[in-house]
Amino acid sequence: MNVLPATPFPNPDDVEPLDFLVIAPHPDDAELGMGGTIMRMIDQGMRVGVLDLTSGEPTPYGSMETRVKETAAATAVMKLTWRGNAGLVNRALENTLEARERIASYVRCLRPRWLFTPYFHDAHPDHIAATSLTEAARFHAKLSKTDMPGPRHHPERLYYYFCIHLRLAVQPTWIVDISEQWDRKMDAVKAYESQMITGRPTEPPTVLDRVRDEGANWGRLINRNYGEPFATKEPLAMNSLRDLI
Ligand SMILES: [Zn+2]
Repeated sequence: MNVLPATPFPNPDDVEPLDFLVIAPHPDDAELGMGGTIMRMIDQGMRVGVLDLTSGEPTPYGSMETRVKETAAATAVMKLTWRGNAGLVNRALENTLEARERIASYVRCLRPRWLFTPYFHDAHPDHIAATSLTEAARFHAKLSKTDMPGPRHHPERLYYYFCIHLRLAVQPTWIVDISEQWDRKMDAVKAYESQMITGRPTEPPTVLDRVRDEGANWGRLINRNYGEPFATKEPLAMNSLRDLI
């Protein structure tokens, strides 16, 4: 079975709450979709975690061992506060009560202010399931009188990042300038050699060329070198207009 052992739920007494938790169906989705923003927020002193739901394996050129090593390398590049794997089954991700409770348990133990999950329109069934699982787990985490570990907790916001398997002309709600983090984002993405490089066409545009073109296109839309887009279903709440560029 291509399943990793689930990371133990952290003891909430031992960990400070996270600023945000990124839920990723597969190891590499968080890096591809919002690796630059993750590092930008960490650069600014925020505490950021990533919960990968599955091992991401099998894939044509990957293996469990390789993918675990690649994930560790990408985690080191990003300097994440916390990373775990929910131990759910790749290619079989479903919004079941059991899976929902498991993710809600991580949310209760890590107490992030916000959650990030994949954008809701996608072709990949695991990504669609991850989105609906996160939405359900966000609610489930605040339930009382349950066996779940940790205190009841409701992340105040749920945002969507883009790591989609459809050629969509999406309209994001906002775009983060990640020009300063770009090189490190590419280092984190390249750490997944079995997914991005091995066995892939070497003629341009390569997979990495496409990642760069996409980042540059989002950057172009905000008059910066590189950007990452996000969406939200609920209105954006702001303290100030100071950070708008
Ligand atoms: Zn994925």
